[in-house]
Amino acid sequence: MKYEPVIGLETHVELASKSKVFCRCKAEFGGQPNSYVCPVCLGLPGTLPVLNKISMEMSLIVALALHCDIPEVTIFDRKNYYYPDLPKNYQISQEYCPLARNGRLTIQLKDEREKEIGIHNIHLEEDAGKNFHSTGGKQPTTLVDLNRAGTSLLEIVSQPDLRNAEETEAFMQTVRCLLRYLEVSDCKMQEGSLRFELNISLRPCGVQEYGTKVEVKNVGSVKAVLRALDYEMARQAEILDEGGRVVQETRLWDDTRGETRPMRVKEGAKDYRYFPEPDLLPVRLEREYLDALKNRLPELRDAKCRRFIETYQIPPYDAGVLAADKTVADFFEECCRLHAAPKTFSNWIMVHILRELREDSEIGDLPITPQHLAELVRLVESDAINSNIAKKVITEMMKTGNMPADIVKEKGLEAVSDSGEIEQFVEETIAENPGPAEEFKDGKDKAMNFLLGQVMRKSRGKADPQLVQELLRQKLRG
Ligand SMILES: [Zn+2]
Repeated sequence: MKYEPVIGLETHVELASKSKVFCRCKAEFGGQPNSYVCPVCLGLPGTLPVLNKISMEMSLIVALALHCDIPEVTIFDRKNYYYPDLPKNYQISQEYCPLARNGRLTIQLKDEREKEIGIHNIHLEEDAGKNFHSTGGKQPTTLVDLNRAGTSLLEIVSQPDLRNAEETEAFMQTVRCLLRYLEVSDCKMQEGSLRFELNISLRPCGVQEYGTKVEVKNVGSVKAVLRALDYEMARQAEILDEGGRVVQETRLWDDTRGETRPMRVKEGAKDYRYFPEPDLLPVRLEREYLDALKNRLPELRDAKCRRFIETYQIPPYDAGVLAADKTVADFFEECCRLHAAPKTFSNWIMVHILRELREDSEIGDLPITPQHLAELVRLVESDAINSNIAKKVITEMMKTGNMPADIVKEKGLEAVSDSGEIEQFVEETIAENPGPAEEFKDGKDKAMNFLLGQVMRKSRGKADPQLVQELLRQKLRG
């Protein structure tokens, strides 16, 4: 590639405050359309907004975790535009004095390289409602749901410091991880609590000056951002190769077609006629208040990862996987508190539990709790079941949420420890398989696996494989 991409991301986060940012309406996903509304968020005349303290606090916590400068005074502005999902015809946002500037986020790349990505600013605004377009019926219809109108939206604007898809992906994952650690949002991309907007320009390699920037909206998932990025890089490179000029514009990502298309020529700040919101006072932030918030910052991923390695003596790889999500890390620690077997828990969680998680689902949604896993590990350690049976039990737990001991009892999965019973299985197997038995006698170890498999089948997987091997050897090789 003879061009270098210059990429920036805007991260839109729906904050987990219980009520909306300037009124007392419920801020929840879903609900009957237009049921979480009131005169304030409907923009009726004579109403006044009141700033939600929790939303402000969550925003500041993010700003502190991203090492931003936080000015003493922050001010809200009106961003004026007309759209059916915006009942007031303006959005309360922040343009001139956002609540934070000049932050940074360190991302991890392959080969343990790190890169610092600048944060240009962070600002708090209200979200718009949602339009539903339907082309069915006699004529196309658009329905408006204002439940989301006025919910707290935090916007994190990065510097254009990203240079390729790997860095862009790492940035999105790191931001998501951080926001979940800070417990300011559930970050469910499918429900729109976390949305990204991409801006990208190309410049010939070695040139310092930026090319013309294109913004891409409507990208609904991490995968979509990466596809949109790929598409735009190719599109812009083709224009430049042909000696053309890239138009500065906002484009929409079409996920089904896998392409971007022009939405509007890029508007400048002046098109929105920003002016200070006269209905809200400037917010003065006391130093002591910010210091108190800073002291409340939780242990974040890197610190947790280091502590896991030290305290639980698990490999750095395991610690990294477990600490990548706060709820998983908490789950692991709770297991270790119930029963001291960190490496066993880390294996079970990584191999059998994390693979059950889809994008947007979390460990807390599964029917398995640390109590389940601790009990299961105890059953294996006490030889009540072997580890193959444990895998069966875990599958059953995923389905029913029943406790492992109950599953073992109900399904009759207790290990066969009665050596008389196992001996009988071994003898039957030898009698039924004279060929392999002879081969094993002649020193062919491959036959052993076959015979072992047969005995295990007879015991329905419950025999101790080591005991079976021992017995087979005794009987056939003496
Ligand atoms: Zn309201």
